[in-house]
Amino acid sequence: MRPVIVAGNWKMHTTPADAGELARTIGARTRVDGVTVRDALAGPDVAAPDGTGLAVGAQDVHHEAAGAFTGAISAPMLDGLATWVIVGHSERRRDACETDELIGRKLVAARAAGLRAILCVGEQLADRDAGRAHDIVDGQVRGCLAASDPAALGGDDGRGFTIAYEPVWAIGTGRNARGADAAEMAGAIRAALASLAFSGGGDDVPVLYGGSVASSNIDEFMAEPAIDGALVGGASLKPDEMAAIVARAGLTAAARAAA
Ligand code: PEP
Repeated sequence: MRPVIVAGNWKMHTTPADAGELARTIGARTRVDGVTVRDALAGPDVAAPDGTGLAVGAQDVHHEAAGAFTGAISAPMLDGLATWVIVGHSERRRDACETDELIGRKLVAARAAGLRAILCVGEQLADRDAGRAHDIVDGQVRGCLAASDPAALGGDDGRGFTIAYEPVWAIGTGRNARGADAAEMAGAIRAALASLAFSGGGDDVPVLYGGSVASSNIDEFMAEPAIDGALVGGASLKPDEMAAIVARAGLTAAARAAA
C-alpha cells in the first residue's frame, strides 16, 4: 500500500525563529506532540521522530556529491539535517533553468545519499490549453528518469521517491486543477514509469498533487485513489490551513489502511 504524504514547501519564507514557531504550531494543531523544526533537525533519525510521521526536507540539492560549487548544497551535506528533498520544482526550472537531465542527476544524487526525493513535474497553462499536458508530463518523467536505474532509485516500496504532479498554472495562483484531471495525470505518470521498467508498473510510487491546495479543496484530491497526498505551498505557511489539510489526508490514510 502506498503511503499518504503531505509535504509543506515553505520556499524562501520564514526565519529560523519563525520556522520553529510555525512547525510547533502546526505540530500542536495536528496533535503531534513535541515536534519543532529544531527538534527534528537535532535527531539522527528524522524520518519519523517519536513515530510522529513528521520529517524535515530540503528544497533542492546539487547534482554532485562534492566539489567547487560555491553556494550549493550537496545531498551528503544534508546528513542529519533532512531526510527528504524536493527536486525539479517549477520555480527551480524557471529561475535556475534546470533541465530534466539535470533534475534526473539531482534525483540520483539524493537517492545515493539516502534522501527520499519528491520529483516535481507539471505543464504550463499554454500546454494544457493546447491539449499537450499529458505529453509534457510524460516527457518530463522520461527526461528525468530515463538515464537512471529504477532499482537504484528504490521507488518500489514507496520510500525511495515520490512524484508531485504540479501544473505550473496552479502554483500560487489560487486556481487548482480538478481532482479528476490530477488523477488522470497520475495515471500518465505511472504509465511512463511502467515503460521505464519500474517494477509494479510504477504502482508503488506515490503521486502527490500540488497547486493551490487548501483545506477547501484537499478532499477533491484525496478522493482520487491515484493521488497519495499533496505538496502544499502557500497554505503550509498557515497553521490552521495546514493542520486541516493534514487532518483530511489522515482520514484518507486511515480509510485506505482499513480497506
Ligand atoms: C508549490 O510551490 O509547490 C505549491 C504547490 O505552491 P501553492 O500551494 O502555493 O500553489
